This record gives sequence, C-alpha cells and structure tokens, in this order.
Amino acid sequence: MKIAILSGKGGTGKTFLAVNLAASAKYSTIIDCDVEEPNVHLFLKTENTSTKNVSVKIPYVLEQLCDGQRKCVDFCRYNALAYIDNQLIVMDNLCHSCGGCLLVCPNKALKEKNKVIGEISSGKIKQINVLSGFLKPGEATGVPIIKELLDDSNAFEGLKFIDCPPGSSCSVIESIKSADFCLLVTEPTILGAFNLKTIYELTKLFNKPCAVVINKSEKKTNPAQLFCRQNKITILENILFDRTMNDISSIGKVLVWENKRYLKLFTNLLNNLVLEARK
Ligand code: SF4
Repeated sequence: MKIAILSGKGGTGKTFLAVNLAASAKYSTIIDCDVEEPNVHLFLKTENTSTKNVSVKIPYVLEQLCDGQRKCVDFCRYNALAYIDNQLIVMDNLCHSCGGCLLVCPNKALKEKNKVIGEISSGKIKQINVLSGFLKPGEATGVPIIKELLDDSNAFEGLKFIDCPPGSSCSVIESIKSADFCLLVTEPTILGAFNLKTIYELTKLFNKPCAVVINKSEKKTNPAQLFCRQNKITILENILFDRTMNDISSIGKVLVWENKRYLKLFTNLLNNLVLEARK
C-alpha cells in the first residue's frame, strides 16, 4: 500500500510524519519525492547507500541543417529555444524534455543528448528502505526524478510512505498519482486551513481517498478542524504542540526511536491510517 503524505506548504511536518510512520511500521519503504529540498536522509542515515544519476533528453542543433524557420521556437511553450543572429540557441535549464521541437523541425535539424539533472540514493536503516531524490539546483523540473523514484520503489513490498513536495505543483501531482491513499498534514491556523483546502481539492481531482493530521495543534477548536468538519474529512490525529517533540526532531533524531510515549502515539496513528486506507 502506497500512502502519500502531503501539505500545502513547507514546514508543516510532512517529513516528520513520514519518517515517524515509516519507523513505527514493522517493515516499510520511504520515498523522498521532495526532490528540491529532500530531508528524509537527515533523519534516516542509511548504511551501504548506493547512488545513481537521473538523466533527461535535451535537444541540440545540427547547425548545417538549420535554415532558421523557427518552427521549434514557436512550438516550445517553455521558451527554451531562441533564434538569435542566425543561430538556434537551446536553454537547457528551461527545457522540459517534451521532445516536441524535434518533431516539428522540417529539416530534422534537432537531435537529443542526455543531461544529468540529479540523482537517486537508496539504502536501508533498521527495517526501513529509504529512497531519496536530489534535483540539481537550477534544473527546470524534478518530475523525471520522482517518476524514477516511484518506479524503483516497486522493487519493495509492504507499506510505502511517499514524502511529497509541498504545495500543489506538477511534482506533487506526479508524487500522488500512484498512491492508494493521501494523508494531508496541516496546522491549526487560518493559513493551515487555506492550504489544506488546496491539497484536499487536488486529492479530489485525482479521486484519491484521504484523511488529515493536524500538527502542532491545540486543545481548542481551530480553522483546520472546522474545514474538516464542513467537508466530512476524517481527522486521524491532532498532534498537540510539544516542545520535547520539536527538540528531538530538530537535531535529526527519529522521535519513535527515542521515546516510548511517541512510539505509542505513532503506532496508534499508523494503525488508524491503515484501517482508514482499507475502508
Ligand atoms: S524538448 Fe520541448 S521543452 Fe525542450 S526545447 Fe524542445 S520543445 Fe522546448
């Protein structure tokens, strides 16, 4: 079963949830799809880690064949091509590797070459398989890395936790596409409720069942709870603001491996999450 963990903005506690849920399971795989700012590896320091490059196809021009018709320039929606001073210029960092420019060139003046845009690391710690994607700074999109991460995760059985990028961009869409269930993480504020609405609508768009965890919560009723009530969304847990919890996590330690009280909290959450996902 693949569970995607997502939030409308960074810093909500998505990775914190993903790491501690994975560590509470008997056997699990965690997939860090937040490739622009991966941080699962800061908590789960794997042994015998292997890495591999991820490449995409980028066009290059055969100048002797290009007669400046600019059909490729007009076609490219990402403005990755320009024709200046009788020369076609390819701006690698803007290219999304759609391959369309090759198809529209009447002279077949464009070819493709490989370009490394990042890497994937994989390793194991205790009972957890850890796959992390790293996008090189300045690259146009992490989607190809996310696709490859999720393909690689098919090699493993059991519970899989996808730590999605924050927000609702195409990277998030790619991360939740293959998920069986989405766990939405939010905060007990007006902004939290607003961001929750955004990701809830995204899960509805993709027909994904979901439930909510309110992190850094408080005992009184909050806007995120009200939103869930209005939309009949199950709240699996209100994790109350807890200084000790923050202190342990802020130094890169896994909460459930440090303290039995937190292990109980996350084991209960995991059990409820699996029950909800199987409904
Ligand atoms: S491959 Fe697609 S995105 Fe890249 S330059 Fe060609 S048309 Fe533009």
